[in-house]
Amino acid sequence: MYVPLILNQFLDRAVSLYGSKEAIFCDTRVFTYNELNNRVNRLSHGLKGLGVKKGDRVAYLAPNTVEMLEGFYGVFQLGAVMVPLNIRLKPDDYVFILNHSETKVLFVDQDLYNLIEPVKSQLKTVEKIIIHYKEEHSEETDYDQWLSSQSDLPFKRESIDENDVCSLLYTSGTTGNPKGVMLTHRNNYLHALTTMHHLRVQDQDVLLHVLPMFHVNGWGSPFYYTANGASQVCLRKASPELIFQAIQNHKVSIMHMAPTVLNSLIQYFEKNRPDITQELRVVIAGSAPPPAFVSKVEREIGWEFIQVYGMTESSPLSTFSVIRSHLKSLPIEEQYRMKAKAGYQMISCEVKVVNEFGEEVAHNGKEIGEVITRSNGVMKGYWKNKEATMEAIRDGWLHTGDMATVDMYGNIDIVDRKKDIIISGGENISSIEIEGALYEHPSVIEAAVIAVPHEKWGETPHAFIVLKENQEVTEQDIITFTREKLAHFKAVTGVTFVEALPKTASGKIQKIHLRNDYWEVKGKTAGRF
Ligand code: ATP
Ligand code: MG
Repeated sequence: MYVPLILNQFLDRAVSLYGSKEAIFCDTRVFTYNELNNRVNRLSHGLKGLGVKKGDRVAYLAPNTVEMLEGFYGVFQLGAVMVPLNIRLKPDDYVFILNHSETKVLFVDQDLYNLIEPVKSQLKTVEKIIIHYKEEHSEETDYDQWLSSQSDLPFKRESIDENDVCSLLYTSGTTGNPKGVMLTHRNNYLHALTTMHHLRVQDQDVLLHVLPMFHVNGWGSPFYYTANGASQVCLRKASPELIFQAIQNHKVSIMHMAPTVLNSLIQYFEKNRPDITQELRVVIAGSAPPPAFVSKVEREIGWEFIQVYGMTESSPLSTFSVIRSHLKSLPIEEQYRMKAKAGYQMISCEVKVVNEFGEEVAHNGKEIGEVITRSNGVMKGYWKNKEATMEAIRDGWLHTGDMATVDMYGNIDIVDRKKDIIISGGENISSIEIEGALYEHPSVIEAAVIAVPHEKWGETPHAFIVLKENQEVTEQDIITFTREKLAHFKAVTGVTFVEALPKTASGKIQKIHLRNDYWEVKGKTAGRF
């Protein structure tokens, strides 16, 4: 018999097996799975009362809170589509996304309402705004009052097919304007099954949400932790200090985060040596390349490190770094290097690295090709953008725009985004490789490398660097350092020292801004970019 794969089944399972177990820790509040389910039903009744129907869009502008998390299941019960909004955008960006997605109801956290209030009159389709944690003077509807006035009887679900769209997730916008990615129940459901298998998620797990839930990496994880009856800890803000406190207070066992955040945890750990529980079994980094710090995480802090690779368009994960048992006899440093790679295709994902003729590259760690993937997680398409969809999915394969090599063991190693590769004197240079070298410099906290124009070589690498406090380091020191670490043609030819690097809300470095700023400063137009 055909049983559609619907994401609400994950919560149903948790309620029936783990009803009285703690599901969510949020601020000082704790909710069991029964309580969460009760709130979800109220939310669905409330949305129905507002006229939300199957296929309608409901948007959320919120940090990681229980209100955000219950939104998933509450919206899905109506067959409606959740649109989580990146909390670091500008008011005009919200106007664009809310109008583009034709959102009907918008939930906003009180702390973020100032981003919406000035542009309210420009929102063409939003009929209702509801505020989480409303302040007295606000004229909008208060979520708690609204929710508690709704029925808590089980909600009669709409008939939903697994291929119905459940979420419209806008990409990070690392390379330009974000695109609306349509993901279905089936996409997210099978992605959750795959990931829970690889991460060995169990009911005694405690997940600390470090990645924002509005970003695809944070968005997908509640499904597989709920399905297994694990507990989830929400933090409204995620500084290293708060993260280490939460790890200790809640006996956290697993965390997912961007490498930049992991980097800040390492810095904090080295400086403050906070207590950490033995329960924390694994930390998963993804969404951007990791600097060379796997050994610090595993050896110094004692957490297992896993690197993952994916994109919004594939729900997101496609690969996973694991040391297969027959390779555990390799020297430990070699294993660390291997773990920092994107790794192998996950179960139910096919991932290939192909050259311009569509042939798989040799497994020699040298030949570079584009990563393409085919899996149950691949999106239905970009919302209202057939052209971009056809460009991204060709012959059933999602073309990622990411360039990679494959080593002799079959590990995929992301070299760069096509747009970030530096082409110098006809050689392709990976900005990621240079950044890896820069992170080995004892005074460097963060580094990003971009291509800049060069009369002789066409382009050369230029580094943007954030230094640790009170360091006396010159541009020439950095240039010399990269010449010692790398082949000379890969060495940086210039350095800009900055206080901070521009980042997306999920912690990715936005090279597009560095490039624009640099090229503007130098009075050039951004050539091939
Ligand atoms: P936009 O598409 O709007 O420019 P984005 O590509 O950053 O933004 P996401 O879908 O959040 O939006 O990110 C996916 C991209 O992140 C991948 O295509 C890849 O470039 C990068 N990425 C993800 N994981 C890794 C990883 N493990 N190593 C290197 N790069 C990664
Ligand atoms: Mg992208």
